[in-house]
Amino acid sequence: MSNYQRDTCRLCQSKNLEVVLSLEPTPLCDAYVLAERLKEVQETYPLDLYLCRDCGYVHLTYVVDPENIYTDYLYVTTSSMGLADHFQLYSKEVLRRLNPISDSLIIDLGSNDGTLLSFFKKQGMRVLGIEPAREIATKTTNLGVETLPEFFTSEMADKIEEKYGFAKIITINNLFANIDDLDDTVEGVCKLLSPDGVFVMESSYLGDMIKNMVFDFIYHEHLSYFSVKPLLKFLDRFNMELIDVQRVPTKGGSLRYYIQKNGGPRAVSAFVDEMVVYENDHRLDLVETYETFSNEINARKSDLTNMISKLQKEGKTFAGFGGSATTTTLMYHFDLCDKIEYIVDDNPAKHNTYSPGCHIPVLSSEEIYERKPGYVIMFAWRYFEPITKKHQRFLDQGGHFIVPLPELEVI
Ligand SMILES: [Zn+2]
Repeated sequence: MSNYQRDTCRLCQSKNLEVVLSLEPTPLCDAYVLAERLKEVQETYPLDLYLCRDCGYVHLTYVVDPENIYTDYLYVTTSSMGLADHFQLYSKEVLRRLNPISDSLIIDLGSNDGTLLSFFKKQGMRVLGIEPAREIATKTTNLGVETLPEFFTSEMADKIEEKYGFAKIITINNLFANIDDLDDTVEGVCKLLSPDGVFVMESSYLGDMIKNMVFDFIYHEHLSYFSVKPLLKFLDRFNMELIDVQRVPTKGGSLRYYIQKNGGPRAVSAFVDEMVVYENDHRLDLVETYETFSNEINARKSDLTNMISKLQKEGKTFAGFGGSATTTTLMYHFDLCDKIEYIVDDNPAKHNTYSPGCHIPVLSSEEIYERKPGYVIMFAWRYFEPITKKHQRFLDQGGHFIVPLPELEVI
């Protein structure tokens, strides 16, 4: 496969699609490079969000070949603080709600280093991971969580079922939004799931993305921006039903969806209907909603760029804080590439890399004490509280943090 522009809705196949938010094209958002690759030009790709006027699904239609995304660049696993705690709570919550008998099979799609599965295993479940990153899969198997080094497909589901039997629970976290051919994935899930089984899918929530201004979470890896209503219709095509939804705070606001086969043993929670009412009230399926969203984003952009040009005239200098995937969307859309001298990050694995496309150096966060930039723009704005706490010394020595979102603020 190579990169392509799809012309149908990923959920309902309709061609009745409309562009509702056009962000500046960016290179692959996480493609930070080492010095030896600085001569290479990194291509930019369209970053336009489309609304399906038939089912209300919001998505990117420009699809970058996963081979380009996941193999060509240096990938630094961010040791996300609190992730293990999140998965421990997740495993307990899922077992409490679904109450499978001990030794039931739980399969995690995109299981990474097996953290979630290890918690299920500790609580007496049989577990199997599916993880295409071969090295991680092998390492995880050796550590006691069996992990198949593959991309999950419906064809593969048959083979897994033959060898391991049906799963009582299948989980997928964040990965679902990155998959282009969702039909095939869900077909596979249907084949593998036992008749009384539950498919648990966690993904960032469109309603929260708009409410919390988390537009920088839009990048090429994230093809889907899910909400409840379009998913109900989609699942029905596979004779599956949504039985419950749970709000979770990760990624600027996410939903955990609990899904069973039609006629499965579990009753549908009233919360599913409540979410549909919420989405109707917030008009998530109307073009106007995104016009407002787009205007708000562009208003924040002018606020920030006006402030920067004023400060530049006073001779002030600027750095950025946080070299992650969201930084790329934010820098390109807010036109900051030629305004920032360097980016700092607390994660040593990011140091001495260069940002995707515009190649701004990423340095240790200690540099803000040495180089004393007047202003540091908080690209990692969702974490500004712990970051400002940790770097209070920078404020004490007269520096300022600029928080660009959800409202422009200078600290
Ligand atoms: Zn649709």
